[in-house]
Amino acid sequence: MSPPAANPAAPPRLRLRITATAESIVRGGHPWLFADSIHESNRPGLTGELAVIFDRKDRFLAIGLYDADSPIRVRILHVGKPQTIDAVWWQARLKQALARRAGLFEASTTGYRLIHGESDGWPGLVLDKYDSTLVLKLYTAAWLPRLTEILAVLKNDVAGERIVLRLSRNIQAAAGQQFQLQDGQVLFGMTPEGPVVFSENGIRFEAEVLRGQKTGFFLDQRENRREVGLLAAGRRVLNAFSFSGGFSVYAARGGATSVTDLDISAHALESAKRNFALNQNFPAVAACRHETVQADAFEWIEQTPAKFDLIVLDPPSLAKRATEKEGAIRAYERLNVLGIKLLARDGILVAGSCSAHVPAVEFFEAVRRAAVKAGRKFSELQTKLHPADHPAGFKEAEYLKVIYLKFTT
Ligand code: SAH
Repeated sequence: MSPPAANPAAPPRLRLRITATAESIVRGGHPWLFADSIHESNRPGLTGELAVIFDRKDRFLAIGLYDADSPIRVRILHVGKPQTIDAVWWQARLKQALARRAGLFEASTTGYRLIHGESDGWPGLVLDKYDSTLVLKLYTAAWLPRLTEILAVLKNDVAGERIVLRLSRNIQAAAGQQFQLQDGQVLFGMTPEGPVVFSENGIRFEAEVLRGQKTGFFLDQRENRREVGLLAAGRRVLNAFSFSGGFSVYAARGGATSVTDLDISAHALESAKRNFALNQNFPAVAACRHETVQADAFEWIEQTPAKFDLIVLDPPSLAKRATEKEGAIRAYERLNVLGIKLLARDGILVAGSCSAHVPAVEFFEAVRRAAVKAGRKFSELQTKLHPADHPAGFKEAEYLKVIYLKFTT
């Protein structure tokens, strides 16, 4: 740690003492310190400032970003020997995230995640790249007073023609009132006229970076989209909870005879149509019959007489909080029971979950139970977790899981 600043008006460094349990959790590398683990503070903390955490023997333990309004009161930046957190430090941390992704993608993929929050050492911050557009999404107000500092570091080390700011809902009011920052604001470069277009394995997609869900696209499902493309030849495909048709365009390029996009949002389905239009240069996409259905997927799947040879079931998170876990597991099982009923012989089910509160093993078990209930013979093709540009460095960060089953009768 550097000595306290010479400025006599500057408040003393925020110093915290924490419970023994929290101390061992932080020492073990967990990035969150909850408010109820803090038992002593030299003064009230301010959102966005650095907090130094001392251990029982009064030695430096860790340093992190303080958030006065979140139950996650400190997001840890560094554990171990004291370090000075300045522009050079942030730059080194950015380089680590970029180095981790070096060589992961070919030129045919221009959209991927550059910084994935805590697991990349940038707690509560995401940076996605959509070709030459960067989208910076903040999930904690602690970054708001640091935005200028971080922006300078990003501009220096990441090439891009613009940077768009996205804010999680819970920090939008504070951002507007205290920092005049809005969700969807362009921080640098020209405001795009509409969605921006990027490539993924040679397929072109639009991303609604200013307003769309997450940062405009579900980059995390890239590897599963590719798998679906490889499995789709000659199949009638249903993509339930399709969003902008990511899985569908891959299926079409992979030779699906038809693809049905099912989503409750008309807006998402319009985007899916445009994504098909963007890829008509692939003869297989041009030849594929594409239809969109705007409906509640749970209801539609229960009622339709249609049959499919490949079904993707990738709903939004069904457990927003820990208490909803058991209900979510039952909902996943029910949804998959319904989906399996629509599968023709030799049909493939691709079932996903993005609920962090539902562990992968329990989700996989729920889908297998659904398959057993269907009373059909099935084999498990594979399961998949996080892709390399969305690393999960601690338990709470593990949200993505997908299981592939093939029904042979
Ligand atoms: N599978 C997509 C991401 C899914 S996001 C991809 O890989 O790109 C979840 C989608 O589910 C959103 O587009 C949302 O509009 C849709 N959705 C939410 N509830 C729904 C419901 N009850 N029925 C159908 N679609 C729903």
